[in-house]
Amino acid sequence: MTPTLIVGQGMAGSVLAWMLHQRGHQVRVIDDGHRTSSSRVAAGMVNPVQGQRLNLAWRIEDCLPVAQDFFREMEAKFGRRFFHTAPILRLIDNDKERDYLEQRRDDERFRPYLGNFEPAGSNSPLNDEFGGLQINHSGYVETNPLLDCLRDYFTDQGILCNAEFQHDELTVDDSHVQWRDISAERVIFAEGFRILQNPWFADFNFQPNKGEILTIASNHAFPDYPINRSKWIIPQPDGTAWCGSTYGRGQTDFEATNEGCAEILAKVAATLPTHTLSVVGQRVGVRCATGDHIPRAGFHPDHPRIGVFNGFGSKGNVFIPWLAQHLTEHLLTGAPLPEDCDFRARPPRKKRA
Ligand SMILES: Cc1cc2nc3c(=O)[nH]c(=O)nc-3n(C[C@H](O)[C@H](O)[C@H](O)COP(=O)(O)OP(=O)(O)OC[C@H]3O[C@@H](n4cnc5c(N)ncnc54)[C@H](O)[C@@H]3O)c2cc1C
Repeated sequence: MTPTLIVGQGMAGSVLAWMLHQRGHQVRVIDDGHRTSSSRVAAGMVNPVQGQRLNLAWRIEDCLPVAQDFFREMEAKFGRRFFHTAPILRLIDNDKERDYLEQRRDDERFRPYLGNFEPAGSNSPLNDEFGGLQINHSGYVETNPLLDCLRDYFTDQGILCNAEFQHDELTVDDSHVQWRDISAERVIFAEGFRILQNPWFADFNFQPNKGEILTIASNHAFPDYPINRSKWIIPQPDGTAWCGSTYGRGQTDFEATNEGCAEILAKVAATLPTHTLSVVGQRVGVRCATGDHIPRAGFHPDHPRIGVFNGFGSKGNVFIPWLAQHLTEHLLTGAPLPEDCDFRARPPRKKRA
């Protein structure tokens, strides 16, 4: 019998499968060729400081070192670079953000992540009318080549099964779970936003969030570092840049919209006033978050053979390796999961109407 069956080979299922496999644990992964993968669309940014309020990401001090180690391990294994460390230039967008920055700079926890404040005009010809600063310990991951390498590796090892998993094909009893010819001790669902269609988890508070990203070209070279000023801009090796993103709460469609394109382009044009921009691509993905923005791992409260690894919102690259490490330990040794993200201890509940 296979000990662990994982549904989904996005970033979450891949990292978990890798860690279990590295510990000598037999694992099988089912994926439908990344048909709806958010990991395939993501910009891959690793940014410890988030949003207009410049908050620190959840458990950043725990997650960041594990993420860095994991991506370096992948680079050693597959012989290419995936994680590009690059300080993000965080341009302040308005007075409110400047107020938040003042508060954060007095806070000990923020010190490792915030560079010196650079007053307006320091980054000309960028529009930095409210000043800016560098965010340390940041960068971006090339998620697509990494998922390609892992997909090929899992295929060579006989781990990956390319198929659409239908939930009604799974049978569950006290001793095992069964999907087609695979008997397993447990199944872990790492399906991204499609957990909303999963009958075991449909009643829990997982929230989809559609995002659009543009690939743009310009008549001038883009700055060679990532920029974030309410929308981010990441320069690409071919001279284009990726920029985004939009947030469509509750939306699960994959339609690229004119509104999304205009929203991103207007903000990027305001940051790069000397550039003439053109759109050369637009892509769409759906994130999966929880109501409290804390991801979850572990087992269903009523079904001890049915597990979940999901809810990474827009921070998969930062959160997934750390939580995969804990879930691996939990599965192999029974070590408790950190309580705030243990699905059984804290299932994300929907608010009562
Ligand atoms: C526009 C956008 C920008 C983003 N930017 C960033 C960023 O800059 N930095 C960052 O860290 N994160 C970012 N994210 C978030 C990031 O993509 C996610 O947090 C993370 O990749 C989620 O990984 P996952 O494995 O949980 O889900 P997914 O990547 O969605 O993987 C789920 C996999 O399961 C498969 N699957 C699902 N159901 C089935 C089934 N029934 N049968 C077979 N296969 C199935 C899917 O096809 C897919 O391959 C962004 C997301 C979006 C949409």
